[in-house]
Amino acid sequence: MSSDEVRTHTAVHVLKGAVQKVLGAKWTASVYVSGKHGRLTVQIDRKPTEEELAAIEREANGKVSEGEEVIEFEMEREEAEGHFGDQIYDLFPVPADIIMLRIVRIPDWNINCCNKKHVDSTSDVGTIRMETPRFRASRKELELGFDVE
Ligand SMILES: [Zn+2]
Repeated sequence: MSSDEVRTHTAVHVLKGAVQKVLGAKWTASVYVSGKHGRLTVQIDRKPTEEELAAIEREANGKVSEGEEVIEFEMEREEAEGHFGDQIYDLFPVPADIIMLRIVRIPDWNINCCNKKHVDSTSDVGTIRMETPRFRASRKELELGFDVE
C-alpha cells in the first residue's frame, strides 16, 4: 500500500462510521482502494436521499476534523466476538482458522477487524469528497465512491 492508499483505506473506516450513523447500514459488502480513490459498498434496501448523502459526507469530514485517534490492537477471536459482537465483521468472511484478530477502532465511531495499514489519526486522512453514489436495487447495495484530497 502506498501512503495515499493508507489514507484512502483509513477513510473507508471513517466513511463507514458515518454511513452507520446516518443510514444505520451495518454491513459492508466490499471495499476498493486505489491511490486516492476508494469505494465502500454497503448493504441497504433503499436509495438514500440527497440530504442523507450530504449528511454522510459532512459527518465523515467532521470526524476527520476532530483528529480522533485510530487505535489498532490484537485480540483473540472468541474474546473479540464476546466484547464487540458481529459489528467487527463485514459480509466477506474471516477464514475459520484465524484465531487472532487485528482490530481497528475509531472511538465511538467504527470498530472492525482489519489487517491493513491505517494512519494514526483521522486528521491524517484529508478531506473526503464523495462521488454521486450508485444504488443497485437488485442487489440491495449502495456503492459510495470517494476521493481523498
Ligand atoms: Zn482497515
